[in-house]
Amino acid sequence: MFQLTLWSIPPVAAAMLSLYAFWRASPRSHVPGGHALRFLFIALFLWAAPQAVETMLTDARAKLLFSQLSYLGIALTPVAWFQFALTYSRRVLRMSARILNVITIVPLLTVVLVISNDWHHLFWSGWSIVETGGYVGLLVERGLWFYIHAFYSYGLMLAATAILAFSLTQFQLNMQALLAAVSAPLIGVMANLYSLSSFNPSPWMDFTTLGFFLAILILDRGILREGLLNRIPVMRDRVVEQLTDPVLVIAHSGAIIDANQSALSAWRAGGESILDQPIETVIEHLPLERVRDPGENSEVSIGNEIYEVAATPLDSSNGRSDIALVFRDVTERRLSERKLREVTDELERMAHTDALTNMFNRRYFMQRLSEEFDRVSRHGSTLSVLIYDLDHFKNVNDSHGHDVGDKVLVAVSTVTNQVKRTTDVACRLGGEEFALLLPETNKQGAIKLAQRLRAGIEQFPYSELVSKNIQVTASIGVATVSPKIKEPLTILKVADRALYKAKNGGRNMVCYDNE
Ligand code: GH3
Ligand code: MG
Ligand code: MG
Repeated sequence: MFQLTLWSIPPVAAAMLSLYAFWRASPRSHVPGGHALRFLFIALFLWAAPQAVETMLTDARAKLLFSQLSYLGIALTPVAWFQFALTYSRRVLRMSARILNVITIVPLLTVVLVISNDWHHLFWSGWSIVETGGYVGLLVERGLWFYIHAFYSYGLMLAATAILAFSLTQFQLNMQALLAAVSAPLIGVMANLYSLSSFNPSPWMDFTTLGFFLAILILDRGILREGLLNRIPVMRDRVVEQLTDPVLVIAHSGAIIDANQSALSAWRAGGESILDQPIETVIEHLPLERVRDPGENSEVSIGNEIYEVAATPLDSSNGRSDIALVFRDVTERRLSERKLREVTDELERMAHTDALTNMFNRRYFMQRLSEEFDRVSRHGSTLSVLIYDLDHFKNVNDSHGHDVGDKVLVAVSTVTNQVKRTTDVACRLGGEEFALLLPETNKQGAIKLAQRLRAGIEQFPYSELVSKNIQVTASIGVATVSPKIKEPLTILKVADRALYKAKNGGRNMVCYDNE
């Protein structure tokens, strides 16, 4: 029934080593290629373990059954290696994950044909038991599908190795990892070729497991211990994981290769996980070029949130390094900044606006007068000022009420705005007294404008506004800067004097004071 021979050592050792390697690869399962590498070690275990059992059995049927079982691992090993190459290379190559589904078809067919071989003999055309040196071995004759399977598997292994080697040279020139990634599968393939060839003195024995033993040791040294998986900066530290700020790691190609829990729960790509997706699926307008610049912080909008993105290359010596992106949610801050700006703008506006008429107030007028006056002194241009006061306005209030008086004051501001140019500064100095600052305006221009203003105030249809027939007029004093006027307050005094003249002259008129 059972036999204990030295022939069991290679598959038993390979099976145990696969489990050990699986365990060693586990902490890295979340980095690109990590899952696939574990899958590879499981496939190798599924290959070696049934073979180990087969070498210990003597019953022909039982031996055949375990040989068949080992084909699950045999068929899946190249697929696992291919997946490892593909996911690892996603940092530099953009390849669809769907290709994996396609390449798995042939290996699955192989498994089905192996299990159902009794009915069609496509995989093994025959089998027999041989006994040499006290060992009972199973000898099979290979059928058509065996060769299809073998060629397909070698092709897959070679393609995967080529992809991996290419991406390793693109990404980083770590010779040890490169050698490990290339030599391990080649040793496995060579051991397999040797087992199948006519050079094999014990054709009942599959030496591939011996090849694996070496291959796994190489992968362990070159890739797990200090090789490429270790070189992938492991960001899944507790700290990063617990950060409320979303953190992404993107490859040079722009693919998202890692994300912390916060990023995963905040963002989805059309309902799917954002892992392996291009960064553009999360952030439409992330300026990748700028993000790659270390120390450059940019601000992006994602949905309703505003984030400040801090980018750090994980390997600053490598121009094609992965980049960690830390997103700080600054939505609240930006919103309160905006609100504060609105409030300060409004306060500023209120500080220089007259509440009743919305004209500028005296404070703003004085400020602008002083600025314009300075300009005139420096550049020698001209400047005029009008001061106007409503005539007998007390009567309007007394006869019609204060609110009617207010409406008239608003109407005067309307007339002023219609008459003045956009560069002129109109203000209510207080009560029923107004002023107009007219930059670049000489005496004639100012008098002309004052006349239009006076006529406008007189002719305004106040009855439409207050449903009463009231007569409103204004007296206007005009002043223009002259060499004698040395400071802003003087021009106001001169205009005031002219206004006084207009009042004394009978009101509803424009006067100019010659200073
Ligand atoms: P004069 O032609 O000499 O300027 O006569 P006046 O009646 O216009 O001058 P006075 O300075 O004696 O009166 C100004 C009036 O303007 C007193 C007040 O009733 C009125 N007044 C001042 N501020 C306001 C205001 O904000 N609303 C209203 N409705 N009236 C105001
Ligand atoms: Mg008045
Ligand atoms: Mg007055």
